[in-house]
Amino acid sequence: MVSFISRVDEKTLKRERQRARDLRSGQWWKNQLGKGICYYCEGHFHPSELSMDHKTPVIRGGRSTKNNLVPCCKECNNEKKYMLLCEWIAQREEEGRPLACARQELY
Ligand SMILES: [Zn+2]
Repeated sequence: MVSFISRVDEKTLKRERQRARDLRSGQWWKNQLGKGICYYCEGHFHPSELSMDHKTPVIRGGRSTKNNLVPCCKECNNEKKYMLLCEWIAQREEEGRPLACARQELY
């Protein structure tokens, strides 16, 4: 599980984390949170319960762009960790409890 981490250098990690912070303080992110919906499970939450998640984690080569950042509830955040979204979707499918967002994700 650890082997892929070293592929992204420290400079990239720092830059992408900073970009995520910048986006998080902007109006676009406020609008995302305002919907009150976790992207992954499509559950309804108070905006304060949602955090920012990278669909493709930065350490897996993802970037802090609007189409890679989604609001995410605590439970999904804890479960997904550093998985790619397609990996998580496949895993949940196997476990017989498919993710709600699988319907809208083309992969
Ligand atoms: Zn969720």
